[in-house]
Amino acid sequence: MVNPNLTDYSKTYKAFDWEKESQYFNGPSAGLGLNIAHEAVDRHANGGLGDTTAIRFVRKDQKRENISYVKLQELTSRFANVLDRLGIAKGETVYSLLGRVPELYITALGSLKRLAVFCPLFSVFGPEPIFQRLSKGEASLLVTNKLFYEKKVEKLIDRLPHLRYIFLIDVEEDLSKKVLSFDRWMKKASSSFSIPFTSPEDPALLHFTSGTTGMPKGALHVHKAVYTHYLTGKLVLDFHKNDVFWCTADPGWVTGTSYGIISPLVNGVTSIVDEQEFDAMRWYQILEKEKVNIWYTAPTAIRRLMRTEMDPKKEFDLSKLRLVLSVGEPLHAAEVIWAQQAFGVPVLDNWWQTETGGIMIANYRSMEVAPGSMGKPLPGIEAAVAEIDGDGIELITDTEAQGHLVLKKGFPSMFRAYLHEQERYNKCFIGDWYITGDLARRDRKGYFWFVGRADDIIKTSGHMVGPFEVESSLMKHPSVAEAAVIGKPEASVGEMVKAFVVLKEGVKENSETKLDIIGFARKELGPAVAPKEIAFVQRLPKTRSGKILRRLLKARELGLPEGDLSTLEPS
Ligand code: ATP
Ligand code: MG
Repeated sequence: MVNPNLTDYSKTYKAFDWEKESQYFNGPSAGLGLNIAHEAVDRHANGGLGDTTAIRFVRKDQKRENISYVKLQELTSRFANVLDRLGIAKGETVYSLLGRVPELYITALGSLKRLAVFCPLFSVFGPEPIFQRLSKGEASLLVTNKLFYEKKVEKLIDRLPHLRYIFLIDVEEDLSKKVLSFDRWMKKASSSFSIPFTSPEDPALLHFTSGTTGMPKGALHVHKAVYTHYLTGKLVLDFHKNDVFWCTADPGWVTGTSYGIISPLVNGVTSIVDEQEFDAMRWYQILEKEKVNIWYTAPTAIRRLMRTEMDPKKEFDLSKLRLVLSVGEPLHAAEVIWAQQAFGVPVLDNWWQTETGGIMIANYRSMEVAPGSMGKPLPGIEAAVAEIDGDGIELITDTEAQGHLVLKKGFPSMFRAYLHEQERYNKCFIGDWYITGDLARRDRKGYFWFVGRADDIIKTSGHMVGPFEVESSLMKHPSVAEAAVIGKPEASVGEMVKAFVVLKEGVKENSETKLDIIGFARKELGPAVAPKEIAFVQRLPKTRSGKILRRLLKARELGLPEGDLSTLEPS
């Protein structure tokens, strides 16, 4: 039995002081300032973890490749030297466009060592989304492979004046003065690199948001974000010495960088990286074979596992598993309950955003889980529910409250800019508070519950209806596999609640089923909140990270322009 790092939430929360956490980092005392890559790699390589596996890659063909902390130090130092040699200056942006292969991780950490800003791109993006992101971040250098280069990047080069170098990870010789061989330059470079002094406020990471509510924004983070990466690893993911951790997210989304790269390394554990996309059997096998202790995934994956009707606890040896965590979308109570039963361990939903750089609200191992709730604020984070009226903000102090979810400014991993969108950035803040754009409810016990995105909220007959509440209720109906709810303008009520429903296999799409679901929802939610209209669909439009694109359902329903679809999952 491993005791949780966080034993008493309330006590820790009350006594918390970010400055005390600084004791963990050894860069400052070594005169290096605070550099994410130093804390993630070099300190462990030079300390007692040199031979410990930092990252274990499971390649597409299931072959495993272990990279120890010492090896990772050597490889990332080589890459930092390559950047140096090419004259990439502090603050320039280095991008990757790769699947989950070692070169991506080397690029990320090597760039941080050289004080370049690292920006990962999701490898399935087509040329236009790639162009938009490279140009917005004024990319100086891109690391990719020959196939992506030829198919997606080559034709963009004339429109990218800042892009000086492109590395291909699978060619032996340079193709030109601009298009270079990653391996050749890595081999030539020295394997030792002294990280220059890094200010905690030096820019480190650029992440584009998921584009669920509109055009993706470029959120800029600084090296000090490592405080949150470290602390959440300790208190939420509950990392212990020798743990094996698997985060299934791709580094193209912030979860795959903050938790797929940085947090586990900073905490000195072993991280699993699977190159392949979701496959229920393969995933269960990895959990078993790699003896995963802590597993961080997303609601969309849990739902897909649920639908397979496999019984993981019976069919696989998951005796090493201690914790399952989920982020990205609301995890409905029924899903939490299924997963706790299926895995036999606590299943902890948590909430955060690209902008917050790390977990902000969470369920904890030592705290009673309220299924369907996002949990309570991380120690060091003040979260509140507020009413917002124009430029005015009023915190709702009642024990039970619902409104805009806001966070007190000033925590280390708060984004420092939306790239080239200063006005939009400014609009996110009122006084001391950051407006997250989400709505939440706080219950009597202090747990936060997701209500919906402020943009998705439905105003019907004087009621404010959160889509999550309606969707959760619809999903309790035995015929419903998935549901998404929008507000459809209707003169008499303002907006009418309309639901798009994916039925479970074998259920008939007919008016009887429709009436049955509407009747069920009316009983659960009352007639004012229950959907008045239901449309059956085969699948819901989602981002590639699994978030339902309600704005697209609405645009299609109303015949309006569909907006940015760069992150839409292909059908
Ligand atoms: P965009 O900002 O471009 O519209 P996005 O908000 O989906 O996209 P992300 O930063 O990836 O981009 O996602 C953060 C959002 O995801 C949160 O603001 C919230 O709406 C949702 N989210 C994340 N975790 C949870 C959770 N545990 N429960 C409910 N919603 C969540
Ligand atoms: Mg957002």
